[in-house]
Parts: sequence; C-alpha cells; structure tokens
Amino acid sequence: MSEKSSWIEVPDHSDFPLENLPFGVGKRLNGTVSVYTRVGDMAIDLGAMVACDLLADPRFSGRDLFQTDSLNAFMGSGSSVWSAVRYRLTELLTAGNPEFRDAEDNKHKCLVPVSELTMQIPSHIGDYTDFYSSIEHATNMGKMFRDPENALLPNWKHIPVGYNGRSSSIVVSGTPIRRPLGQTKADDADTPSFGPSKLFDIELEMGFFTGPGNTLGEPIPIDKAHEHIFGMAIVNDWSARDIQKWEYVPLGPFLGKSFGTSVSPWVVTLEALEPFRVQGQPQDPPVLPYLQTSRPGAYDLELEILLKTPKMSEGHRICRTNFASMYWSMSQQLTHQTSNGTNIRPGDLYASGTVSGSTEDSFGSLLELTWRGTKPLQLPSGEERKFLLDGDEVIMRAWGEKDGLRIGLDEVRGVVEPAGD
Ligand code: MN
Repeated sequence: MSEKSSWIEVPDHSDFPLENLPFGVGKRLNGTVSVYTRVGDMAIDLGAMVACDLLADPRFSGRDLFQTDSLNAFMGSGSSVWSAVRYRLTELLTAGNPEFRDAEDNKHKCLVPVSELTMQIPSHIGDYTDFYSSIEHATNMGKMFRDPENALLPNWKHIPVGYNGRSSSIVVSGTPIRRPLGQTKADDADTPSFGPSKLFDIELEMGFFTGPGNTLGEPIPIDKAHEHIFGMAIVNDWSARDIQKWEYVPLGPFLGKSFGTSVSPWVVTLEALEPFRVQGQPQDPPVLPYLQTSRPGAYDLELEILLKTPKMSEGHRICRTNFASMYWSMSQQLTHQTSNGTNIRPGDLYASGTVSGSTEDSFGSLLELTWRGTKPLQLPSGEERKFLLDGDEVIMRAWGEKDGLRIGLDEVRGVVEPAGD
C-alpha cells in the first residue's frame, strides 16, 4: 500500500500511484494536444486544468507551460515550479479533497482515460547525447572487440565517455523502427557492400530530460547538476552492429546509431524517484575534482527487456538488471558534458549507455546476451534469436519498488519493420 491515496482508482502494481505524477504530452481523439499527468490509468489534462482555474498559482497559471505540445517550457521553469505543480496536483487528487473530485464539469473537461490518448514525444529535443557508463557493458564490448586482458580503455574510469547523437530520429514508444540500410564489411570479404543491416540490435538505457540550461561558456558545477535534470524516461538505443563495426574508427558512432531511438512517453521527475536514490558504485581511482561529489547519484531502478516474435502471443523476458549498477551518475554526465563550456537547453535528452549487470541474464543488448551471436537465445516458441528479425517487437520496462511504494516509468516498445529498397 502506498501512503497516500487518490480518489482516482490505482490498480494493484500500477506504475502510477499518486506519488508518481509523471508528465507527458498527449493527443486526444479530437486532435487536441496538451500536457498531461496521470494517476493509475487516468490521464489529467493540465492545460484544461489551467483553463478551469484549478492551477491558479501565478507561477504556473499562464497558458505557455501546459496548453502546448511539449514539456520544454515546463522543463525550463525550474525545480521550484516543478515541485509547486506536483504539490498542487497532489492536493487536488488526494482522497478526501472534494475541490476537484466533486466538480463534475471540471472532471469532464480534465480527465481522460489513458487509452484514449496518443502519447507524443515529451519534448522538442534540441540535442541528444548518448553515454557509455556501465562498466560491465564497456568491459563486455572490450572483451569481444579488443583485448580480454585490457578490456577497458585507459580513459574509461576518468571520463564519462559519450558522443553527441542525433535528435531528429528520436521517436516515442510504439513507433515502428525500419531496419537500416548501410555499408558493412564482412570479416571474410575484401571489400565493403551496401544493404540491410544483418546485426540489428537493441540497447537498454535510461535517459534524462534536462531542465533549465546554462549560458554558453559557463559549465554546470557537479553539486548543481541535479537541479538541471527534470526527470527520467526509458530509452531503446537501437543499433546496427555491422554498420557500427565498420564505421566507428576513428570518430565513433554514426549511421549505425542514428536511424532511430525510442523513448517512453511519461517523464518521471527526480522528485518522484527520490526514494530510490542511492550511493553509486565506488569510483577507483578517484575521479578529477570537477566530477567529485558527496551527494549520492545512483537510482535503484529495476529494468527488464521482453522480446516478442510474430509467432509469440506475449513477450518473453530476456534480461533483468538494475540501473544502480552504473559507474557514472547522471550528474557526472551532465557536468562533464558542460565542462568545456558547451550549453544545454531545456528538453535535451541524455541517455545512460547500455545498462548491463554482471550476470549473463542481466546484459542490456543482444550483442552481449548472445555473445556476438555465439549463444543464441532460446525462446518459448521454439525459435532462436541472435539478432532481431523483421516483425520482432522489443519491450523495455523500468520501475522502483521500496517499502510498498512502486514508482514506474511504464515502458518503451517498438517493432522492427523490413528495410526499404
Ligand atoms: Mn547507446
């Protein structure tokens, strides 16, 4: 049982008790778009609440934050406004408060079953950065592609390694992903060829959306970084391993990554996730002073991946892992990104890098789960998979659970479509 209850019904094991209050952008059947929160399976239209004078605080009663098609303005408004909005929503939705509960006309305008909404991408994402912050994942990649004895490169424990990705191809959960075409070179071939990727993979990642930005030239100090993070979502960073392998030296990921990235639609605030914030892994050797902080920055969130082929009636779990295993925290990633003075803006997306644990069933990519295809996954349908085939669907989920409180991030899913001509 959660401590607070709402007059809106919350099903058992729901990701969305009153303590969650995530934010997303939804489109109704009539085409209107607005910012929403949700409790259980009911979405609450914040734009309509402003129009009904239910959110009358001058800090957030204007039209720009919620009567809009993105969370950018709200994300940019800062943590005192985020908290005040959550406080007011909690007050209005708590069992026993009749102000909204008994106002039938307002409820009619503001409440919509989640099933009647088409969720949109949460923000207009200006910039997208993908990190590489799981020590198990980085070690597995090093073992497979370089030297098992020296799997981690010399910089890895000193720098939160990342690359600036492509934001235009980030799509919301449920959007099909087309198998990319690209240039590859088989190990036994003398020359490269062009065609559909044969090693189509996933990456289980957690992402965060930024809040207020910084001025160009003024880095964000480590102890302020969390104030620039609005909330989290689940990210599937689809990857074409054969394209990636041929292209990535010397400048890093490019077309093997940029054809599609999926995100879950409900952004869960750091405030809601606070019960799950924990001390991260010890960092040895010590990191440089600009990345040092005494504030715990890891999050104890359970993660899982399910795979559903066209022959299966439901998804089969192929991975279970935990986000607290990451070596670098979100604050360290953001501080490192801005340490050269580059500026971030509200609504940017940062992804963690593949989250892999230490056991074979906790790896966050097919590349690792099948160890480069040498150990195919055996599915309950009798099928095998090394990498994704057309029609396969991947579902990723994330949630925290502690002392009877469950705060979830719902899911991100996507089906692989055949390559174009
Ligand atoms: Mn990635």
